[in-house]
Amino acid sequence: MSNAVLDLRGITKSYNRGAPNEVSVLQGIDLSVAAGEVVALVAPSGAGKSTLLHIAGLLDVPDSGTVHICGQDMTGQPDARRTAARRNDVGFIYQFHHLLPEFTALENIVLPQLANATARAVAEARARSLLEEVGIAPRADHRPAALSGGEQQRVAFCRALANQPRLLLADEPTGNLDPATSDQVFESLMALVRATGLSALIATHNLELAARMDRQIRLDAGHVVPL
Ligand code: ADP
Repeated sequence: MSNAVLDLRGITKSYNRGAPNEVSVLQGIDLSVAAGEVVALVAPSGAGKSTLLHIAGLLDVPDSGTVHICGQDMTGQPDARRTAARRNDVGFIYQFHHLLPEFTALENIVLPQLANATARAVAEARARSLLEEVGIAPRADHRPAALSGGEQQRVAFCRALANQPRLLLADEPTGNLDPATSDQVFESLMALVRATGLSALIATHNLELAARMDRQIRLDAGHVVPL
């Protein structure tokens, strides 16, 4: 646990607690992701992948258990501290890009850096270098609507990495793309992750993509087990 970037212990989570329609989603999750490790989270829809990722990324709180990010216990921390940790240490990617439509690709990567008090010139240089790494530098000044689905996701990867997080959490990051595009976009995500030495927890239905990660786990009745 000493070098774990993410450490979850005994995480439980139910929705509608105490009500007749209570759903017990996570029933004691123990999971560590080491520095530089890329873990595939494979589970059918409804198994609790998003719930787990939201708790790991400090967007939601568990009913019980502890969440350590970069060795810091985030359990029960005030919102301001959790928000700061999320902004500095965690990058998120979703199945849909969620880029801001009125801003260009470059601006979508610059904005989170400005929000983190990075100087504009530095933020723009970093955004251009990230776009270069994922092979779409010539698209820097295009708005999302003028980009293909694969290009939109590549911009979303760059945005997630803009503030140099230690942990990347991805929820079906290529699930919205056709198989050939999904493969290429996934390769470019993995290259970016490997180049930065980032730790990642990536939810996917795709067993071929999962096999390219360092370790594969699944959710079974609210517990993490090896695939
Ligand atoms: P996955 O990402 O694996 O598809 P989720 O974590 O989204 O799974 O959901 C797990 C289960 O919890 C599902 O049965 C879902 O219907 C239920 N669930 C998720 N969010 C809520 C919520 N806000 N209120 C009630 N039930 C929810």
